[in-house]
Amino acid sequence: MSLCDGSPFKLFIMKIPFLQLTMIATILTACNSNPNASVADEFQYADETFADLQMLRYKVHGFDELSLKQKELIYYLSEAALEGRDILFDQNGKYNLVIRKLLETVYTEYQGDKTDANFINMETYLKRVWFSNGIHHHYGCEKFIPGFSPEFLRNAMQSVNPDNLPLKEGQTVEQLCDEVFPIIFNPDVMSKRVNQADGEDLLLTSACNYYEGVTQKEAEEFYLRMKDVNDPTPVMYGMNSRLVKENGKLQEKVWKVGGLYTEAIEKIVGWLKKAEGVAENEQQKLVIQKLIQFYHDGDLKTFDDYSIQWVKDLDSRIDFVNCFTESYGDPLGMKASWESIVNFKDMEATKRTEIISDNAQWFEDNSPVDSRFKKDVVKGVSAKVITAAMLGGDLYPSTAIGINLPNSNWIRSVHGSKSVTIGNLTDAYSKAARGNGFAQEFVISPNEIELMETYGDITDNLHTDLHECLGHGSGKLLPGVDPDTLKAYGSTIEEARADLFGLYYLADDKMLELGLTPHADAYKAQYYSYMMNGLMTQLVRIELGNNIEEAHMRNRALIARWALEKGKDDKVVELVQKEGKTYVQINDYAKLRTLFGQLLGEIQRIKSEGDFVAARDLVEGYAVKIDSTLHKEILERYKKLNLAPYKGFINPVYTAVKDSVGNITDVTVGYEEGYAEQMLRYSREYANLPYRN
Ligand code: ZN
Repeated sequence: MSLCDGSPFKLFIMKIPFLQLTMIATILTACNSNPNASVADEFQYADETFADLQMLRYKVHGFDELSLKQKELIYYLSEAALEGRDILFDQNGKYNLVIRKLLETVYTEYQGDKTDANFINMETYLKRVWFSNGIHHHYGCEKFIPGFSPEFLRNAMQSVNPDNLPLKEGQTVEQLCDEVFPIIFNPDVMSKRVNQADGEDLLLTSACNYYEGVTQKEAEEFYLRMKDVNDPTPVMYGMNSRLVKENGKLQEKVWKVGGLYTEAIEKIVGWLKKAEGVAENEQQKLVIQKLIQFYHDGDLKTFDDYSIQWVKDLDSRIDFVNCFTESYGDPLGMKASWESIVNFKDMEATKRTEIISDNAQWFEDNSPVDSRFKKDVVKGVSAKVITAAMLGGDLYPSTAIGINLPNSNWIRSVHGSKSVTIGNLTDAYSKAARGNGFAQEFVISPNEIELMETYGDITDNLHTDLHECLGHGSGKLLPGVDPDTLKAYGSTIEEARADLFGLYYLADDKMLELGLTPHADAYKAQYYSYMMNGLMTQLVRIELGNNIEEAHMRNRALIARWALEKGKDDKVVELVQKEGKTYVQINDYAKLRTLFGQLLGEIQRIKSEGDFVAARDLVEGYAVKIDSTLHKEILERYKKLNLAPYKGFINPVYTAVKDSVGNITDVTVGYEEGYAEQMLRYSREYANLPYRN
């Protein structure tokens, strides 16, 4: 699972609660508001901004101190991380690779006026397509509206070398235009990547490429038939395939060597084999071997074996994810998008998460949850802070700040899970957001700002740690409850559960006792930023008129709005007006904590019992609709700050230095590559799939 944007026990990648980070960073480092005023050799965290996106860079602290063998391992795994890029593009929509290719060709070969608005807007559109790994918004899932005309694109396509266009056998440029223009320009065609609207056929109305010609009902029945509710070790059904209907018959097209996406998977496997040769130890070697085996046989039992070995690999300094992992991109939450991250342990920062892990049982025993839903023994909660070295697939460029894997419920309960916080990414968010004015605009008073300046950073990290290390791993399902019972609401409920676990304990005396917070009031910084984000500021990421769709955003709205409503009589939290602007005012932090505890109890009950109706009522009741007056106000205030609500990362570039016989003698890391430069290079060097799959 991703921390912060999540789903039920999936690799947890916490896709950042940006606004919290933005704000905290703003507050923390109010100095140096001019990004150009930095010292000559200071690392540049902030890069270009376009549309609603800002590109950042992350620094791979400590890379130079690794041994040559470790650097070599990171190098091979990084190549494997980049080879799967096309897979995600294709998973996100069947025309994404075609559209990316034709736009890149026009972008690089166009001989006309490049200062023309059509060209400039096409460039922005292409940058967004790169960022989203497709033509839909990476977060909101809505299709991009092009700011250039069909006529412009048609003429431009006719002016470039047709050999560089993604033409089908015998297809003319004109026919290619006819094929893809409705996809690009008609707002009614493939309008949402993942549709979660209650009551609609979620498969027929979603543009993601996980199902072909299959209705939601057919898919649900297909997988229901596969499942044996009495199986204590069920595989993640359907995780690594496209479900298609051919000649009236449903069948899975499995992603593996020799199957769908074989061209990319073979490349990945090639690098994994090299990585296996320089593994740090036998356990890590076994992990890599199991993964290679899974890429070959596509058998989900092999995937479980791999996951179990991966969980057991705790001693290695270097770690990685490289597979079909998270299912946020499938409206049914089954099909997993391909992603990769290569990383190594940050020894110093890991001490904090180890304290939390060491006390996991205490937290489980003392949580405000019915004892029937608690784990008697909390197993294998491991936690560490890592330094990201390479991001790929669904973790690039938009990424998570934490990961909690594997996603299989039974493996998590029997073998445990690994949970990480990605220190250098969090750090980059903070550093890049210096002095951007966000807190001054949205935080109610200097008191709260000061609170956040003092404790915002530490409590935000701590909330992330609690969410990942303990929240997702806590609690249990009652016997016989199908983990998929909550269906489309499962992800939101799961993220709410993990967030509430963290919120509840942040205010506990145990935090002080364990030396995790410096002051009994520190938690208030997180409570304020969480409520402000959930009630107001996260709305800047949504267009006026749209609902909240994404699971993490729904989770935050659910928690904040529920607490606002339930605490109304006691005025625990209020939305107040000051000079025509709305602010969050928290009057009673202690009672707010009690409310978080109550909601945690209820959410855990819903999860444990598989109470679909209660899950739906909570999510639909609190987490979807937006008050348009407030939304409009927030958007206007935010717009004046000129900030990009979403961030993503440009990867570093690793270069293998070789001797005369081809042995690697060193691996260097560089940060000079630009965003478009990197994307174009990836499209050249890792163009592994046919345009149409
Ligand atoms: Zn999560």
